[in-house]
Amino acid sequence: MNRPYTIATLGSHSALQILKGAHDEGFKTLAISNRETERLYRSFAFVDDVIVLNAYSEFMGLMDELKSRKCIIVPHGSFVAYLSLDEHKKMTIPYFGNKAVLDWEASRELQREWLSRADLKLPRQFKNGSEIDRPVIVKLYGAQGGRGYMFIRDTHDFEARAAHLKEAYTIQEYIIGVPLYIHYFYSPLSNKLEIMSMDRRYETNVDSLGRIPAAAQEGMDVSPSYVVVGNSAVSLRESMLAEALRMGDDVVKVSQEICGPKGLFGAFCIETIITPDIQFYVMEISARIVAGTNLFIDGSPYSYLNYSEPMSTGRRIAREIKNALLTNNLRLVLDDTSVL
Ligand code: AMP
Ligand code: AMP
Repeated sequence: MNRPYTIATLGSHSALQILKGAHDEGFKTLAISNRETERLYRSFAFVDDVIVLNAYSEFMGLMDELKSRKCIIVPHGSFVAYLSLDEHKKMTIPYFGNKAVLDWEASRELQREWLSRADLKLPRQFKNGSEIDRPVIVKLYGAQGGRGYMFIRDTHDFEARAAHLKEAYTIQEYIIGVPLYIHYFYSPLSNKLEIMSMDRRYETNVDSLGRIPAAAQEGMDVSPSYVVVGNSAVSLRESMLAEALRMGDDVVKVSQEICGPKGLFGAFCIETIITPDIQFYVMEISARIVAGTNLFIDGSPYSYLNYSEPMSTGRRIAREIKNALLTNNLRLVLDDTSVL
């Protein structure tokens, strides 16, 4: 009999969810950890094996080892944080997802073009400080988890606090509303889009400023920061679900025009802010599993509607790979660089 595949991922971000899901779907599992996290991953029975690196940047040196173990890589946010675009493309081990999407995601300009073509409402972008006519958020390129973002009131504030910045940044209209992160899964096997779950992030300190009355804030030297520390569950007003689904559908449809016929598939997340007139403004798209799905390792109200059994996004990924194997369609769920 053929040796079974092992689902492997970096030990961080949403690895526990991915590996638990893989185990529940009958795969062997491998965590690639560092020295600090080795004990954590070894402590779970559903993790069959752990490879320890001194630094995640050594990951590319593992390719032969991963090939000989017959691994399929499931990427998550740490892959983007710790490996370059080039390294992603050089990997020839089986990789769940379409790497062509990475170029469209990584460039803020291309991402904007993709999302606009999908008819999503985007915050206005300003080219320079003198154009600013409303509150904006200044986002440093490559900032992670909201670190380094600045809330700017007007042109004057921009000159004082942001004009001197050496790093590249974008200036975006500040949208006041409820942030909602919608987690989707698109199956290339059944050509079906599912809403898996949704979350809102908990960010320090912006989510705490409301605890101090505005009058008391006056004169205090405090400005909002957007560093993510966790996530909480939300269920969306049901009449808004149709638009959430429409947005996901159109993002997938346009991706099939711009990133080759496979387009965007598997897990992805549209990051929105909802304004009082019930408009979804889209801040960003993440083309893979996001950490907010960790709230739903046991499934979400939405995944329960489709599955009647615990179905995390991590498990959904493993289920798709399993279904692909059972129908002899593995290539449909892997990037084209994958050597089997
Ligand atoms: P880490 O492995 O914790 O360094 O995270 C890798 C990337 O995922 C970073 O860009 C983090 O900002 C992002 N990230 C990690 N955890 C979360 C979370 N709970 N919610 C949103 N983003 C996260
Ligand atoms: P992002 O890196 O795009 O995921 O943004 C991180 C956080 O910054 C979000 O969760 C929001 O709290 C905040 N943010 C980003 N873009 C905007 C915007 N255009 N208006 C208001 N807040 C924003």
